Amino acid sequence: MNKIESFKVDHTKLKEGIYISRIDGDITTYDLRFKKPNMGDYLSNSAMHTIEHLMATYLRNSDMADDVIYFGPMGCQTGFYLLVRNADNGRVLKSVKSALKSSIGHKGEVFGCSEVECGNYRSLDLKSAVIECEKYLAVLDSRNNNFMY
Ligand SMILES: [Zn+2]
Repeated sequence: MNKIESFKVDHTKLKEGIYISRIDGDITTYDLRFKKPNMGDYLSNSAMHTIEHLMATYLRNSDMADDVIYFGPMGCQTGFYLLVRNADNGRVLKSVKSALKSSIGHKGEVFGCSEVECGNYRSLDLKSAVIECEKYLAVLDSRNNNFMY
């Protein structure tokens, strides 16, 4: 078996941040790492699921909406993948920060919170999602993000 790209990253040295995971033609996959791996602190499923609903919606309504291919959680519960067409790192970082701020300020029901729209709509928790988004935004604001692992 060929080892996939994401297994080639040394997760013992990986910190919270935003990284380019891989580039396939005009599609860039960003690693939005909310948590330092294997430290016992993970996103709960309901927080992660809520962030997925919020960030996917806000990113797909941002000024790079037409270039967003996918936003979704990592099974290890430490972050998300964001796939963008014709990506510009500065623009992506700006859109991610803006979507985080919108998610933090989100009022009312979470987008897609119904049996018709989601496969497990009872597993959504805005409060914990907001706390995780606040922590991650603080990480991005405190770093000189160069997108390299
Ligand atoms: Zn859902």
